Amino acid sequence: MSRYTGAKCKLCRREGEKLFLKGDRCYTDKCAFERRSYPPGEHGKMRRKPTEYAIQLREKQKVRRMYGVLEGQFRHYFKVAESKKGIAGTNLLMLLEKRIDNVAYRMGFANSRNQARQLVRHGHFMLNGRKVTVPSIQLREGDVLEVCTKSKNSLVIKEAQEVVARRGVPAWLDVDVTALKGTVKALPVRDDVTFPMNEQLIVELYSK
Ligand code: SF4
Repeated sequence: MSRYTGAKCKLCRREGEKLFLKGDRCYTDKCAFERRSYPPGEHGKMRRKPTEYAIQLREKQKVRRMYGVLEGQFRHYFKVAESKKGIAGTNLLMLLEKRIDNVAYRMGFANSRNQARQLVRHGHFMLNGRKVTVPSIQLREGDVLEVCTKSKNSLVIKEAQEVVARRGVPAWLDVDVTALKGTVKALPVRDDVTFPMNEQLIVELYSK
């Protein structure tokens, strides 16, 4: 299945929230959602009372689009989350958080999750000293993620660091900005995800 290649800002407008898919631009007044906060399309401004199903679907799409995961992969994460101990919704979010592309983004080595995925795919990172190219790798406690030596002068990565200086790094990660290296200090917990998400709605949607 192919990845979504359409206008990213439309996704934010569709979900009714800023999903921060375009990095630096999302923090400026060029953000499309700041200008037109209604859904795209001819009937975007029409107000309809959403059904229960529509609310659940929108929440699932919001989270899936934010992490840049395809439907099949997302459903797979849900199955894994359900089979683990604890709350399925929380497990799902933690699986998404621990993806290597998300961690690279959180550490400030990329401007957006999309860019982080591309940088991983193009071999710009080393995990525990070994080059990686798979964006879905799950990181574990103690793992060390580092920008490859040949990529350390990349302008893209340097620009991303300026953005993260504004965004901050979550408490479960430790980043050495000068060495372009970060460590997973501890596994993330629900409170580490501060973006408003109601994962219970996703559980209800998939449990129908
Ligand atoms: Fe969403 Fe960023 Fe586009 Fe704004 S600029 S609509 S936050 S992707």
